[in-house]
This record gives sequence, structure tokens and C-alpha cells, in this order.
Amino acid sequence: MTAARNSALALLFSLACLVAPPAAAQDEMSEAEAFVASNIIHILLHEIGHAVIDRFALPVIGQEEDAADSFATLEVLTIYDDDVDILLDSAEAMLIMHDLAEAGGTPLDYFGVHDLDIQRGLRIVCHAVGIDPDRYDEAARWTEMDPDQQAACEIKAETAIESWDVLLEPYLREEGASAPPAPVTLEDSALPDMRAFLADSGIMTDLALYVGETFRWPQVPALVAADCGEANAWYDPDTVEITLCYEFIDELFALAEQR
Ligand SMILES: [Zn+2]
Repeated sequence: MTAARNSALALLFSLACLVAPPAAAQDEMSEAEAFVASNIIHILLHEIGHAVIDRFALPVIGQEEDAADSFATLEVLTIYDDDVDILLDSAEAMLIMHDLAEAGGTPLDYFGVHDLDIQRGLRIVCHAVGIDPDRYDEAARWTEMDPDQQAACEIKAETAIESWDVLLEPYLREEGASAPPAPVTLEDSALPDMRAFLADSGIMTDLALYVGETFRWPQVPALVAADCGEANAWYDPDTVEITLCYEFIDELFALAEQR
């Protein structure tokens, strides 16, 4: 790792020290369960990114969805830095969704609030390879990233890290400062297996600790899992709640079967 990258990462890595290691025992999970857990982590961090942007009124130059994605990817690299599968699984899910949409003849939504799934998936890989080319070398080969693209990804990743560092710095708690975790609610579900999986994974309680201990929130966002009638997740600025739908977890298990 270069000195410049070390310095750019210093602030983000300092956040990692505030956070307890994930209790989600992915070693004990099946491959499908680990794939789903990885995706839930990235999805929730994406929504936490929206909450950070909203609560701290951060400027967003470009698409907010891109910013939320880069926040999620960089935070995974910080908090779960020894688990490469989280980002690989998250990227793979987006590539599978792209393939399924293409196979089903779904028109590509070039005017959507998100970039295309294939772009989102490849950007996760780009940031990961840009920051840690050795650890993610298999992903670079898997996505057929050539050396020029890899060099460009290094620059993109550094820009993302430096930008987030500047924006987040005023809102970070001091290292070692304790704070209550974000409130977590796992509502009852018509998909009890999905609720049980989420509860057993410990993902929400882990991320609630991270949310509470990392940022100086004017109002800490709550983490909620609920039946929504759709496979989705969102941050609601009116209620300051992040909702993960059990239907989304169910869809991720269906995606896992497509691998
Ligand atoms: Zn979003």
C-alpha cells in the first residue's frame, strides 16, 4: 500500500477501531446464507450512507445513489476488512440481477436514479481492486479488468476515500468514545425464516453499534426490518428510519440460487 493511500485511508480505518468485530458468524453459514448476509451488509450500509448525507446535510455532486454505494463499499473495506466475500458477493448479486433483467427482456433504465446494476456491481469491484489490488486480484481477473482499468480504479477509489474523509471528518465521534447503539426493530414477518435468519446473523445489531459509535448524529437513525409488500430497502428522512424488507432477503436467497 502506498504512503498516499495509507494516509487517505487513515481516517476511515480509524473508524474501524470504534466498531466491535462483526458477530455474524459467516463461517458457520451455508454458501447461500453467507451470500445473502454479504448483500444485507452492503445494502444496509448503502442506506446508512443516505442517512449520513441527509442528517449532516452533505453536498452531493453527482448521483446520490453513487455516493451511497461508494460509502457502503468503503465502509465494508474498513469495518469488515478481512472478509473479501462481502464485496464480491454484493457485486455478483448486481451482475446476476443485470443478467436476469437482460434475459427477461427488461429494458435498461438509463434515466433511473441508480446506475445500471452491471455498472453498480463493477464499481464495487473497481473500488475494492483500487484500494487493495492484492486482496481483490481474483475479482480483477473475474471481471477481466485490464491494467489500465486497474490503474484508473486506484485513482477513483482514492478520490472517493479523500472526498468522504473531508465530508465526514466534522461528524465523527472521537476514537474510543462510547455511545448507545442505534435502535433496532425486527418486526414480525409473514416470512418467519427471513426474520430468523436476520436475527441469527447479528448483522443489524452489529451495524447498530457502528451507527451509534461512529457518528455524532443530531438524531440517530433507527434500523427496522419489516414486511413491505416489495423487495426493497430505504432510508426515510421524515422518520429517520432505515427499513430493510424481509421480501428483499427472500429475493437475495432466490438470487443465490442463480449463481
Ligand atoms: Zn439508495
